Amino acid sequence: MKFGADEAVAWLIAFQGKVSENKTYLTELDQAIGDGDHGINLARGVKELANVFEASSFESASDVLKAASMTFISKVGGASGPLYGSAFLKMSMKWKEVDKDITMSELASILQEGEESIKARGKADVGEKTMLDVWHPVVQACSESDDADHFLQVAKEAMEGTKEIRATKGRAAYLGDRSIGHIDAGAMSSYYLFEALNETIKE
Ligand code: ADP
Ligand code: MG
Ligand code: MG
Repeated sequence: MKFGADEAVAWLIAFQGKVSENKTYLTELDQAIGDGDHGINLARGVKELANVFEASSFESASDVLKAASMTFISKVGGASGPLYGSAFLKMSMKWKEVDKDITMSELASILQEGEESIKARGKADVGEKTMLDVWHPVVQACSESDDADHFLQVAKEAMEGTKEIRATKGRAAYLGDRSIGHIDAGAMSSYYLFEALNETIKE
């Protein structure tokens, strides 16, 4: 599949649309088991990112992800800003190793860099009710199948599955058992990111 600068911009603009549209929902999810700012945090970041995309042009997907990283790190507060920011940065670095035409397994290795950097920065692992519970199965799915609808389906189930998990990382961890029964806000926003990726690939 072709995945150069234009496709990377299209991906993140699609993500922007989903985050803006669902800003209230993301905030409600975070209100239930966090501090209720996830939608606000991310909406600020993606809006700023759209401004960056309008003002500049990019040579490669790597450059686009680097700009996204800098914007998220500088403009998005909370835990999620640095987590998405570091994921985009590591993905940007990995993207330098591939051509404009990438295979699904190359995409898997790029997304895996993102997953690893979230793990490292968040000192978290799979099963703690965070965005990682979506990132990890999506990376697996991309390495298993070339079908973009496969990783989308996996992402959806994983996002919904965070409802059943008891949080041990992030603000929700303070609630212990009371964190069960709610979808994790960061898992939801990560689902939007992968839904946007699926749409970009299928364009
Ligand atoms: P904050 O919790 O600082 O208000 P946000 O509300 O923007 O930040 O983001 C919260 C989301 O970030 C959570 O729903 C979770 O998915 C993710 N998150 C929080 N802490 C961690 C962590 N240590 N590791 C991985 N993800 C985390
Ligand atoms: Mg929050
Ligand atoms: Mg906060």
